[in-house]
Amino acid sequence: MQHTHATNMEIRGINASEGIVIGKAQFFATGVVYANPIRISSKEIESHLFLFDSGKKTLISDLEALIENQDAETDIDILAAQIQIVKDVEIEQRVKRLIEQDLYASDYAVYESFNVFIELLRDSGSQVFKNRIADLEDVRDRLINILCGRVTDFSLNPDGILIAPTLGPVDLISFADQGLKGLILEKGGVTSHASILAQSSSLPAVIGVGKTSKRIKEGDQLILDGYDGLVIVNPDEQTLQQYQEKKLQVTDEHIEEVGEGDVQAVTKCDVPFTLLANVDFAKELDQARQKGAKGIGLLRTEAFFFANRNARDEQEQITYYQNIVNGISGPVTIRLFDTGGDKLSSKIVQESNPFLGWRGIRVLLEEKKLLLTQLTAILKVAALNPGRIQILIPMITVLDEVIAVKRIIDQIQKDLSEHGNIDEEIRVGIMVEVPSVAMMAYEFAEVVDFFSIGTNDLTQYTLAVDRGNEHIHSLYDQRNPAVWRTIHQVVEGAQQADIPVSICGELAGDAVSAATLMGLGIRSLSMNPARLTKVKSILTSHTIKEMKYLSEQVLIQKTTTDVMNLFKDWIG
Ligand code: PEP
Ligand code: MG
Repeated sequence: MQHTHATNMEIRGINASEGIVIGKAQFFATGVVYANPIRISSKEIESHLFLFDSGKKTLISDLEALIENQDAETDIDILAAQIQIVKDVEIEQRVKRLIEQDLYASDYAVYESFNVFIELLRDSGSQVFKNRIADLEDVRDRLINILCGRVTDFSLNPDGILIAPTLGPVDLISFADQGLKGLILEKGGVTSHASILAQSSSLPAVIGVGKTSKRIKEGDQLILDGYDGLVIVNPDEQTLQQYQEKKLQVTDEHIEEVGEGDVQAVTKCDVPFTLLANVDFAKELDQARQKGAKGIGLLRTEAFFFANRNARDEQEQITYYQNIVNGISGPVTIRLFDTGGDKLSSKIVQESNPFLGWRGIRVLLEEKKLLLTQLTAILKVAALNPGRIQILIPMITVLDEVIAVKRIIDQIQKDLSEHGNIDEEIRVGIMVEVPSVAMMAYEFAEVVDFFSIGTNDLTQYTLAVDRGNEHIHSLYDQRNPAVWRTIHQVVEGAQQADIPVSICGELAGDAVSAATLMGLGIRSLSMNPARLTKVKSILTSHTIKEMKYLSEQVLIQKTTTDVMNLFKDWIG
């Protein structure tokens, strides 16, 4: 096939999953699945109810068959969560009502019912819900296709790099099973399912490229660089050769790094630091351990909440937290449910500015029962494992919130101490992810035991850029100088009050940024386990003096581009 456009055309996106692949563009149309509001007669009610039930059974057995083939626990968890959605009683009741009372055909009843829940989640503004939305859309579309008897006959080319607007978890997992080499998505962010799954399947991926993907044609030769978030279309010979070499080189580095898994975490000048893992799913602990994480710096309990029908139950939570503690040595930092307003809470709120709305601690302080149950479960597990657990409070914006939660913790501890042992030393910290906390860092530091800086949200709120919005994705960069100065301010406040600071946003997983954070005085970094080896190798091969100098330079830069250029020079 002849190509009319230039060679070496570059397309940039988010580096969602590491690796370099060279292959041919293959488009996958994730077309919009739509159902028309067709009415049925009352005689047809039974047959449409039957169709719905059997459609659900087919989908469940398809998903179960897929689970059978999976090794990665993350994939299994996500597929299991999809089965839970298919079995969801609230959705089922709504579908049946639409068929029986409103006389809609089964496919439209499914379409309409799922959309109600999807819209609620969309309005909630929580980032975690974006993945939940993707799951619901995926299940909705699959169910409708089954009800309408539609079959897809897409087959992967052996050297295909797949390009799609988005990809649901089930498609992603099945394509990875079939040997997909690389993935480019128009939509999606670093915390999306696609990103998590691509990493757990070791599938190199660049996502969030937006409409620039339209500049690629079917069959174009592509270099996909999952380290840099770069796609090169129709590379010339020289570029091709350069990337073939880079590919060999990173494979060698990877082997070396894996070999170094247990090297002690000290800088070149012997200053110790701690690398921890961010964990969403309990089963990610295997990878965290393998990569040498010295504990959990951020347990996102929302994931447990979504995957479990009985998540509100104290005993269920105790079992879950104890499993995590058993699964890894070192500290386990449990973050309280960081949710927005949705059907998981007793109230349903629709907000015009969800990211500035009912989120995190704001929900918990109103949903007292939820907060009490979670804190009681955590404190009971802490009593059984003294010194291991820390509590982390999300989305704090004012001091009163911290004081309110601490008062509740004290009360529960008092009650528990009347019946047995407690962990008296349990440490309570806050997420620093809102500028108001950064500005008042010292005052907050006086009342908590530690800070954990959440750069994902801190960037969003400092720059007023929605972290999940592809249209303004180029403005969302955690390496923006304003973010660095904010982090610096937080560290200074913490040092003044003598409390430790760690980082749990994505910035910690970017190797040169991690070195800069060390230079700023941070000694504890928590990240996606996939990033640990790279970060460790850069920190162990530099001195504090070098990293301090780097951070001083970063703090005087004016633009993100200046910072990036500085980083490039530093790496050499
Ligand atoms: C953050 O905001 O940086 C963070 C780690 O929390 P989450 O990504 O879960 O919002
Ligand atoms: Mg956050």
